[in-house]
Amino acid sequence: MQLMENLLTIEAEAKYLLGLKDRSHERSLMKNLLKILEEAEFLFGPRDRSYDLRELRITECAYAQTYVFYPLRMTRIYLTSSSKAGGYLAAYELAHEAIHVLSPVPWGHGPTMLEEGLATYFSLKHVNRIYGLGLESVDEPKYEAARRAVSAMMAKNEFVIKELRVRQPVISKIDERLLIEVAGIEPHHAKLLCTDFDSYGRTPWSTNAARGAQRLVSCLRSIWEG
Ligand SMILES: [Zn+2]
Repeated sequence: MQLMENLLTIEAEAKYLLGLKDRSHERSLMKNLLKILEEAEFLFGPRDRSYDLRELRITECAYAQTYVFYPLRMTRIYLTSSSKAGGYLAAYELAHEAIHVLSPVPWGHGPTMLEEGLATYFSLKHVNRIYGLGLESVDEPKYEAARRAVSAMMAKNEFVIKELRVRQPVISKIDERLLIEVAGIEPHHAKLLCTDFDSYGRTPWSTNAARGAQRLVSCLRSIWEG
């Protein structure tokens, strides 16, 4: 699966190098991302600038994602086609991925429920504020569970992530002990937040794999045809 994902990224890059797409919309979304990152850094602490943040790309993929090219110390955000229309859908994806570029971790080392929940919490809050939407939850149960766990912690102190990151700058490496000590939350709450997001409430492998394969096929097709 990882190989397929890598191939997909290479396709998007190849297309860029061949100059097959007009990049002006991506450049304007990138400007929005930088503004959103300023807000995220104010609330949650600085972005790890040892990673070069490359210009984002729009794909036909089902989910927006952030790729961390660990050996090259480089990150790139890939948005879905929903972001083409701009507006709150683009802002939602940008705000979510902004959290993932704050403190990138290599493949297989995260994100935790804390990081994914923070990304969901922040993106919801961001679109509510900018677009006056009043949304209270997200549709995907797993993301909603992560968001709720983070919201409960943030309710006491909006800057708690910033304080935690003074001790451990990498969000997905913040451990239970630190959460209990700095955020003052209960051990079971800390344990939930430190759970690997992918393994939380995991459905059988075959179901995931089939779904993943389907997504990748439509994703690849859109990049070839787009
Ligand atoms: Zn995410």
